[in-house]
Amino acid sequence: MNIHEYQAKQIFQEYGVPTPKGIVADTVEEAVEAAKKLGGPIWVVKAQIHAGGRGLGGGVKLAKSLDEVKQYADEILGMTLVTHQTGPEGKLVQKVYIEDGADIQDEFYLGVVLDRAKEMPVIMASTEGGMEIEKVAEETPEKIVKVTVDPSIGFQPFHGRELVFGLGLTDKTEQKNMINFAKKLYQVYMDKDAEMIEINPLIKTSQGEFIALDGKMGFDDSALFRHPEIEAMRDISEEDPDEREASKYGLSYVALDGEIGCMVNGAGLAMGTMDTINYMGGTPANFLDVGGTASAETVAKGFEIILKNPNVKAIFVNIFGGIVRCDRIANGILEATKQVDVNVPVVVRLDGTNAPEAAEILKNANIDNIIAADDLADGAKKAVAAAKGEVA
Ligand code: GDP
Ligand code: MN
Repeated sequence: MNIHEYQAKQIFQEYGVPTPKGIVADTVEEAVEAAKKLGGPIWVVKAQIHAGGRGLGGGVKLAKSLDEVKQYADEILGMTLVTHQTGPEGKLVQKVYIEDGADIQDEFYLGVVLDRAKEMPVIMASTEGGMEIEKVAEETPEKIVKVTVDPSIGFQPFHGRELVFGLGLTDKTEQKNMINFAKKLYQVYMDKDAEMIEINPLIKTSQGEFIALDGKMGFDDSALFRHPEIEAMRDISEEDPDEREASKYGLSYVALDGEIGCMVNGAGLAMGTMDTINYMGGTPANFLDVGGTASAETVAKGFEIILKNPNVKAIFVNIFGGIVRCDRIANGILEATKQVDVNVPVVVRLDGTNAPEAAEILKNANIDNIIAADDLADGAKKAVAAAKGEVA
């Protein structure tokens, strides 16, 4: 789960991680009120969407008067902001964050992410603030300092020294401020079960203080039950409606841009299924994992979600029955044909627990557009043929 910049900064403030003062606003009037409260004389009007690159897309504006705050809030609220992270369709801006303008002397990058290979959090920092970190990593990787922190000992003074020496900070006060900043940020990361925190830019003021000018946080969904305060920050309007609908039924759904809808169980089988479809000359339209607790109802729901996509020309159901029984899936398919208009061919490969019963159920139902497959390769081949309108 991701949150907005203004929410990330609220969390930073609770931990004493310095940020500019700011107030979030839903309307132009609120934005002007917020600016008055902050006092000025310079403000920044920032679009709140779950994507970076807002500055380049026109979603971050520096205002030098209340009139300008009003003008920019008016422009930004309701705009469809397109950045390199939103995709070409962009994202509708529903909130702006009004902030005090900052005294920027230098821009840095600071982030905390999980290093999967080391199985530990890693603090990443760079003097190349304000630039895309992916670009820095590609072009000048030597400018990124990485400090791995073993969670069993936590953030220690030597981690701090590695960080500031790596960044080439020589001033004692600046070193102390940066170490303090990173230490608190590490604590936020651990306490909140974050998956990633990114501050770009982290600025240094002319006083040698460090302030988070931007803030991005993502959380581990599996740990959200421990953090109702984070769950409360969820903004469902930022999430894909089909993916959300699917998650309500315990299904994981990821939309792709091909033409064969895939219903599978387990992420590994999903990958294998998609690869095999590609190998046979087709393209997957989605990835829908019914998981281990599929019922006739959830399978029917899965069909409904897959069929919402008009590009879907065929559906490939590829289930290996272990925990989930094949007869339940077969009943789910029948249920689906009653509840929704399944107007495309459905290739079904069910193997494992109760597979013969499942085959019997489907055969007896005698539905025209259900095509039985023997194995994964056969199923993928038939699904690709069916999507092309060829007789399978
Ligand atoms: P992003 O483009 O989505 O990453 O949004 P940021 O919060 O990083 O803002 C984009 C850019 O706006 C930053 O890199 C800064 O250069 C600039 N910016 C943001 N806040 C201020 C501010 O208070 N003063 C000035 N002068 N520039 C700012
Ligand atoms: Mn940024």
